[in-house]
Amino acid sequence: MIFLGPPGSGKGTQAVKLAKELGILHLSTGDLLRNAVKEGTDLGKQAKEYMEQGELVPDHLLVELIESKVNAGELSDGFILDGFPRTVPQAESLKEMFTKNGMTLEATVLLQVSDEEVVRRLSGRWFCPVCQRTYSYPSNMPKVDGVCDDDKTKLQRRPDDEESVVRNRLAVYKKQTQPIEDFYRKESVLVEVAGEKSPLAVFDDLLKVVL
Ligand code: AMP
Repeated sequence: MIFLGPPGSGKGTQAVKLAKELGILHLSTGDLLRNAVKEGTDLGKQAKEYMEQGELVPDHLLVELIESKVNAGELSDGFILDGFPRTVPQAESLKEMFTKNGMTLEATVLLQVSDEEVVRRLSGRWFCPVCQRTYSYPSNMPKVDGVCDDDKTKLQRRPDDEESVVRNRLAVYKKQTQPIEDFYRKESVLVEVAGEKSPLAVFDDLLKVVL
């Protein structure tokens, strides 16, 4: 399965939950790239600047990353791809990888959220760098402002959640990623889910369309 949707649509949250429910792998290219940047690997060094500006990392780097996972057999028992593909060439490369490896795509889930909701959500998104718990101001705030409820660590924001970067990420989504909605519509695997309800209500809707 593939998860599509603008930044802040909740695709990470929903993909993690659904993967757990189905007992399959959740693979987020954003997480893989952030780890690569943190560890200072070659990939991380090449990706860092693009990520800081909210631009897409070049296609060949992402295609090689996913190809290495496919070749290592990591996707053989079912998976949700979260954040890949993000361009038509990435979607075409993925299709080739699937054909070559006898894999089938069951569904591409598109979470629909308006631009204003995206900006509102991401500008209130904080996380604990130790336990990764996430908070959203003002709907889901920690008991003490700026401090994780579980381990009292000081909360952080993703640098690319700053409003000007969010606006650029949205523009990039519209220009480079939205065209792949049609790519999957033509393949008859696109299912659309309204993403502006509560996370639980969205998850309920999601289960109805994918199970
Ligand atoms: P995300 O956590 O999915 O919002 O991704 C964070 C950032 O990682 C994006 O803004 C891009 O710079 C980069 N990124 C993640 N996935 C891809 C992809 N499939 N293609 C290009 N860049 C990506």
